[in-house]
Amino acid sequence: MENILEIVNLNKTYKSAGKTLTVLDDINFAIPASSVNAIVGPSGSGKTTLLGLCAGLDRSTSGSIKLNQIDLNQLSEDKRAQVRNQYVGFIFQNFQLLPTLTALENVMVPLELRGEKNIKARALDLLDKVGLSARSHHYPLQMSGGEQQRVSIARAFSNQPKILFADEPTGNLDAETSDKVVKLLFDLNQDAGTTLILVTHDMDFAAKTQRILRIKGGKLVSDTLTQA
Ligand code: ADP
Repeated sequence: MENILEIVNLNKTYKSAGKTLTVLDDINFAIPASSVNAIVGPSGSGKTTLLGLCAGLDRSTSGSIKLNQIDLNQLSEDKRAQVRNQYVGFIFQNFQLLPTLTALENVMVPLELRGEKNIKARALDLLDKVGLSARSHHYPLQMSGGEQQRVSIARAFSNQPKILFADEPTGNLDAETSDKVVKLLFDLNQDAGTTLILVTHDMDFAAKTQRILRIKGGKLVSDTLTQA
């Protein structure tokens, strides 16, 4: 199967106080389209940095990141944003909804930014998909953590991304709500063939994916196919 993501000799360093900190050290892997993958590893090992680079939110120091055959490092900031809008969805641990907008308006924002039509109907449709039609006029603070995360999934899915990155999507949720969010993500993969790349510290969740990439000290230390 074709690879949607190819990472070759990826390095990321930060400079601070005259010192160079290597956060990602020669990472290599390829992700087939429509697969479900987990990235695990200790806190501070570089998982969030890796996810951000793969999603085109930041640029690597060296190496290449090909998303849908497009080398992100060769693109200007604007072009990278275009590729993101076209192919990528991103879910944050702390939801990152806009607090002054309702659930519906939060989902409408990316549709509006892309200049799409019928955005209200489309946003309502997306909220329906995550089981939140009844909450469309609620503000983030009027919703539970699980509901907020489902709004953020609806928002991330508004451009029907080929690949969805999620950084600890269940990290702030109780076990029952977390199960619902995991099911929702897996359903998106089943229904739309969306590739999933999920950062998690929850090994039960990771074991439900098809492949576990383990990062330690900025290096990829294991890459295992699961029985899932
Ligand atoms: P994880 O997601 O595995 O907890 P991160 O990718 O957030 O790890 O961070 C990896 C390392 O990179 C940490 O040591 C962190 O302090 C460092 N780091 C992350 N972002 C920056 C930055 N913008 N400037 C300097 N160091 C950073």
